[in-house]
Amino acid sequence: MSSGTTGAPSEEHALVARLTLEQKVRLLTGADSWLLHGEEAVRLRPMLLSDGPAGVRGKRFDASDPSTSLPAPVGLASTWDVDLVEELAHALGREARHKGVDVLLGPTVNIVRTPLSGRGFECFSEDPLLTSRIAVAYVRGVQAAGVAATVKHYVANDSETERRTYDARVTEHVLREVYLPPFEACVAEADVALVMAAYNSVNGAFMTANPTLLHGLLKTEWGFRGVVVSDWSATTTTAPSARAGLDLVMPGPRGPWGDQLVASVRAGKVQESEVDDKVARLLGLAGRVGALNGNSNGDPRRLMGAADGLIDADLLRRVTARSFVLLSNPRSLLPLKPGGVTRLALIGPNAVEPQLQGGGSVRVLPVVRPGLADSLRDAVDAYVTVDQGCQTSATVALPADGTMSDPVSGKPGVRLQVRAADGTVVHDVPFPTSAATWWDGLPDVVHQPGSEVVMSTRYRPAFDGRHVLGAAGVGVLRIFIDGAEIAEATTPPPRDAVEALSRPPELRVPLDLRAGREVDVRVEHRPNARGLGGFANMRLGIVPRHDDDSLIAAAMVAAAAADVAVVVVGSADGTESEGYDRDTMALPGRQDELVSRVASANPNTVVVVNSGMPVLMPWAGDVAAIIQVWFPGQAFGEALAEVLVGAVEPGGRLPVSIPRTEADAPVLRAQPEAGELVYREGLLVGYRGYDRSQTEPLFCFGHGLGYTEWSYSSLAAAGSIAPGEDLPVTVSLRNTGKRAGREVVQVYVEGPDDDPARPRRILAAFASVGAPAGEVVEARLVVPARSFARFDDGSGEWAWTAGTYTVRAGRSSRDLRLEAEVVLR
Ligand code: BGC
Repeated sequence: MSSGTTGAPSEEHALVARLTLEQKVRLLTGADSWLLHGEEAVRLRPMLLSDGPAGVRGKRFDASDPSTSLPAPVGLASTWDVDLVEELAHALGREARHKGVDVLLGPTVNIVRTPLSGRGFECFSEDPLLTSRIAVAYVRGVQAAGVAATVKHYVANDSETERRTYDARVTEHVLREVYLPPFEACVAEADVALVMAAYNSVNGAFMTANPTLLHGLLKTEWGFRGVVVSDWSATTTTAPSARAGLDLVMPGPRGPWGDQLVASVRAGKVQESEVDDKVARLLGLAGRVGALNGNSNGDPRRLMGAADGLIDADLLRRVTARSFVLLSNPRSLLPLKPGGVTRLALIGPNAVEPQLQGGGSVRVLPVVRPGLADSLRDAVDAYVTVDQGCQTSATVALPADGTMSDPVSGKPGVRLQVRAADGTVVHDVPFPTSAATWWDGLPDVVHQPGSEVVMSTRYRPAFDGRHVLGAAGVGVLRIFIDGAEIAEATTPPPRDAVEALSRPPELRVPLDLRAGREVDVRVEHRPNARGLGGFANMRLGIVPRHDDDSLIAAAMVAAAAADVAVVVVGSADGTESEGYDRDTMALPGRQDELVSRVASANPNTVVVVNSGMPVLMPWAGDVAAIIQVWFPGQAFGEALAEVLVGAVEPGGRLPVSIPRTEADAPVLRAQPEAGELVYREGLLVGYRGYDRSQTEPLFCFGHGLGYTEWSYSSLAAAGSIAPGEDLPVTVSLRNTGKRAGREVVQVYVEGPDDDPARPRRILAAFASVGAPAGEVVEARLVVPARSFARFDDGSGEWAWTAGTYTVRAGRSSRDLRLEAEVVLR
């Protein structure tokens, strides 16, 4: 084990020497959920941590201080464009600075091991090289703004099921070749400031107390000089975690370190030099973000010179359109011909309630931008009808805009009150929606027994007849209509607190209402904040009870009357989230039937898939076009409209394979068995698995169409290389279509032997290039030496096997058009 002083510069050590053991240890656990302690003696101010990676939440989850909501990371990776990702991440870093945030808790660089992964949308890709390149760009961008980035979750945090306890059983070469490279690249190439230790254990040792992977690999072999922070409430031990290389326990102020760590040092179980090293690293972080020497966060507005600090809308729209993957377009219906559409039917549950973000800690309160229907009306200049098509939401949908008002102020929305146990009102505000989340702690009083949160609204139905009302939250729920109590229940906390935030348990009641006749609705909720680890949320949904048969029938009528039908399907609220995995890849509800029926009513049906991870598309061959838009963030409407009319190309390429059936996925369920998650597939994850088993995916890794055509003309590479040498490659290609376009040139390497345990080919380099119609462009790429190496478990070293390798270039992992042979000497 290392001496505990690995790599920390002496300047920080001089500061450390001014502190007592108690002062030092105090710094190593958070002051609360997001703030670290400051320390006058070394002129250190408290640093603020905040979640990402698809935006930055800021100090609070607060509607009056919204955040830019970015495309989910899987969408960022779909751009395959490191410069664009770095530019956006830099803007995100500036927004974080503006919000007073020092440390962004992102990016997530775990590998998408299965399409059912609840948190897959928050990762970049199933491929380590693509993940690494995008992650490095993201970290560099954020950190260039003076904000520290955190790569998470180190490592093998690839299942949400039992995420806090499972033990990942995975051999070293699989870790080294698939799961570790993104972390290693961010340390080596982006000087990432923090690494977050995951909840799970790997090969028998919890990641917060794993000396082999923390001290040994991360800090000693890779020379990481930053801070290892625990995932939230992941640390369960004192001396073992302190000795293994963890530096910072979150959240605070309680936790397993504090006095117990002081005692462990006094008892000789932990060396004081280890504590010093942790504090020095923390001070190093403080130096990087400007938290030392009495620096305050200053007035961020002045600091940035920007009015609201938010990311530029044009940049965001550009990246969002770039993240959309055009999966099929056999008749070139897209882009829509100017003047060719006078009536457009916008259909689908996600047309009415788009899912801009996945669930969990990644959530921000987004800036409200134009929705789908308005954006389409503007861009297409057509009459746009909107039909829901079918119902999918796990919880009763929020009331439609304009149907609720605060009974006190009359403002749109609800009244939110917090009452102490003695009935005193301690908080009383109008609130714009009927979904409220206290992510970062409730008003203190709510933790006291007997206190409650009251949401009241005046609801004006738009329809006559049967409605359904759902009140959701963990704890006691009571529903009152026009002053009379009609239902009460106590809902239990789910296994993972985050699950309650994404799909809270719900109390449902039927209501018979008259169009236009207002009712007073009040929900009284005593949150079980303790059961939820301090979080709480509350939600009130009311919808007319339509049956799916009539919704589908109405959608077909609308489609038949239109020139084009745009059907937006996908995950519902709560389908994909941190805290749990999906149990099926099928679209929720009757969406498959909806797509098929609409396509039979109108051949010009464009399907827009709004999901974070792949879904099954049994209708793929029956529709005119399919666009995968992931969880696109706040610019969804604007970007989709631009792509449909062809103002920009949908620039994305798949960072994950889309299988035809669930059974075709190389790894489907990431369900621990008896507490163990065994990585039986070894290296054959994602496209590597499909290639080996010769299974044809529906859409392969790297696939994505544009609005022009490309012909690949030549591939130039040296005929031989030495072990450890990079290989420069030049690919020339011509835009043979009728408009300017952009292409992602992909280079794959195939090894000299055909070992069935190893991938047939791996992605080795890629470049994003553009060219006007008819022009030739050259892509210059570098295949890193590692693409020719494999990790040898026996020697514990990277090994280069001599032989003839094939380097292939093309449009996707299965559309490779050029090749060259390279001899590794
Ligand atoms: C998540 C982390 C997140 C942290 C703080 C954890 O449950 O796994 O990704 O940064 O909470 O919200």
